Amino acid sequence: MAETIYTIPINEAFDKKEGCPLCALTETLEQNELTLILGASMMEPDVRIATNRLGFCPDHLEKMLDAKKKLPLALMLQSRLQELRGWLDESDSKKERLFAATADSCYICARIERYLSGMYENLFWLYSGDEAFREKVAAQKGYCLKHFSVLYTMSEKRLKSKERDRFRKALTATQKAYYDGLAKDVDSFTAMFDYRNAGAEWGDFRDAPERICEALGLRR
Ligand SMILES: [Zn+2]
Ligand SMILES: [Zn+2]
Repeated sequence: MAETIYTIPINEAFDKKEGCPLCALTETLEQNELTLILGASMMEPDVRIATNRLGFCPDHLEKMLDAKKKLPLALMLQSRLQELRGWLDESDSKKERLFAATADSCYICARIERYLSGMYENLFWLYSGDEAFREKVAAQKGYCLKHFSVLYTMSEKRLKSKERDRFRKALTATQKAYYDGLAKDVDSFTAMFDYRNAGAEWGDFRDAPERICEALGLRR
């Protein structure tokens, strides 16, 4: 049996029905990580070793700066800088190895990915046995491109053939309706720039470009 500890957050994310439920889950996990890293975990030696080695991606550096917890951030950056300074005294081959191994690494992204992989296992376990959850999946508004393809692909090995067919059909129907709605809105948006529509009223298609960027994976 898959782990069941993620059942509640998964159901909460799928209850929202606002946008990609996996992006909503990622958002929750990210908030938890940001709170931990600038709070309780910050002084833990194991965490410090990991943050020194892995560092942070530009996105999470920015979010940590925005969190306005400058002292914990400064303490962490202080020892990260010390670690990087140390790498400069290593041999060329070790330098290359160290920098190559951590070129795009991020402590927070790595933690989120680890939790998310548990979430995926739990999601398919739920789908296999919980009719209410199967109905929730069919009632989503849409998925971002990345999470759609991950769910679709993972279902190959995680679900038995009958459930997999139902899952993929539900996912595809959701995504078609989502794209069709966005296409209609962006058509209306671009039509507003036609001189024949000069003076026409803007409708709720005003933010079509933003919503398409979300469908492509932008989290706001
Ligand atoms: Zn997503
Ligand atoms: Zn990151």
